[in-house]
Amino acid sequence: MNKSKLSFFETVLAFFDEASKYTEYPVGLLDQIKYCNSVYKMSFPVKHRDGQYEILQAYRVEHSHHKLPVKGGIRYSEMVNEDEVKALAALMTYKCAVVDLPFGGAKGGVRIEPRKYTAEQLERITRRYTAELVKKNFIGPGVDVPAPDYGTGAREMAWMVDTYSALNPGQIDALGCVTGKPVQQGGIRGRSEATGRGVFYGLRHGLSYADDMKKLGLTTGIEGKTVVIQGLGNVGFYAAQSFHNAGAKVIAIAEYDGAIYSAKGLDPDKVQAHRRETGSILDFPGSHSLDRSSDALECECDILIPAALEHQITAENAPRIEARIVGEAANGPTTAEGEAILKKKGVLVVPDMYLNAGGVTVSYFEWLKNLSHVRFGRMSKRFEEASNLALVNTVERLTGQILSPEEKKLVVHGADEIDLVNSGLEDTMINSYDEIRNIYKTTDGVDSLRVAAFILAINRIGVSYMQLGIFP
Ligand code: NAD
Repeated sequence: MNKSKLSFFETVLAFFDEASKYTEYPVGLLDQIKYCNSVYKMSFPVKHRDGQYEILQAYRVEHSHHKLPVKGGIRYSEMVNEDEVKALAALMTYKCAVVDLPFGGAKGGVRIEPRKYTAEQLERITRRYTAELVKKNFIGPGVDVPAPDYGTGAREMAWMVDTYSALNPGQIDALGCVTGKPVQQGGIRGRSEATGRGVFYGLRHGLSYADDMKKLGLTTGIEGKTVVIQGLGNVGFYAAQSFHNAGAKVIAIAEYDGAIYSAKGLDPDKVQAHRRETGSILDFPGSHSLDRSSDALECECDILIPAALEHQITAENAPRIEARIVGEAANGPTTAEGEAILKKKGVLVVPDMYLNAGGVTVSYFEWLKNLSHVRFGRMSKRFEEASNLALVNTVERLTGQILSPEEKKLVVHGADEIDLVNSGLEDTMINSYDEIRNIYKTTDGVDSLRVAAFILAINRIGVSYMQLGIFP
């Protein structure tokens, strides 16, 4: 397979083809899985306050309808193009399959640089984009459920759900038309943190295998590990915060306007506060700036976490990467050529389609909450606490051992929404890692976690098509 000069979507197809050799599905079924089911390319005008019109290019791609609804984020970036949206939609299909969620994959994007627009302009753009999706039935709780991605967040999702609800009055499940909403507007606690936290849970679990770590020349566990993060946005910030809180040292952080380094470690909360105050991570007290933002990728570290955009580790810079583990928090940060070089250097690449699945996992919980119209834990928390208290009181009476008020509080605590979300997220990341690792370890010829993850995904999607009776 010639892996050079492939576009992002072609790269995804190439990985798919490599993995499909290890499955037993007929070519027709494999083709049905790999190509995009629907591609909606639109141009629409947005009228700004000064009376000027601007014509914008936007997309929504539904990659696979083997399960409905389809699911995937909305990206606002100047680099949005059809190939990128198709690649990201395909990755969503495989990602949902890898973590066993009942969704097909999709992705959307508007070709704008969000930093150049005011909040009011972004609201107009988001509402108009949503209206275009409604017109063609490309959004809805049972059809296609967008979420935040690069350049969008809870605010954009709130505008989307409001526009969708206004155009579909009385639809009882309307809140489930997007996920990643603010908690006050049908969102779920823990969604903003979910992708970054999932990155942490996934890597922490990978780091718990002594034999795998020995091969990399690393010890097990997070404590003391050095970490470099590219992109201190939604995903990168919460990943950095989780590693820092668990005792790792975040030695470098890169942003679009530069990178900072400190051998002693950077506190992501403080870096974020500094950025809010000054508009940049640069000149953070106690750090020094690197010459170029991309230099951070080449710092010697145990774990490198690209959490910005695709195509960051390429044939050009991969020879200079000095990390032992690359944890792909962003989608498509490593090109096929880049990965081949990392593989030769013995670097473990934990692939995007697994590692950043925490966001869509918690989006699934949010969607379930919206459809059930009840907050998780609402009906059980008090009951659990009363039962736990009765049990503790009985044990205390029978043993004469009395717990301190703090111990009692901990034992009695009934699970509320955030506890259940984090527990479901952690469980998903651990189980899926083990499934991928098992394929990697037991399938002759499979030499990367990425190919193993693709095999897991293809097998699951293939079974769905068989069950649909399309391919007997
Ligand atoms: P975001 O917009 O919140 O953050 C991205 C950050 O990267 C920004 O702070 C931006 O300034 C920075 N950045 C841009 N170019 C950079 C460069 N060249 N070098 C260093 N930093 C740069 O986006 P996000 O939601 O955190 O998404 C980041 C990546 O994670 C994307 O690839 C996205 O597809 C993927 N992802 C996001 C989610 C989610 O839940 N948000 C889920 C899965 C995957």
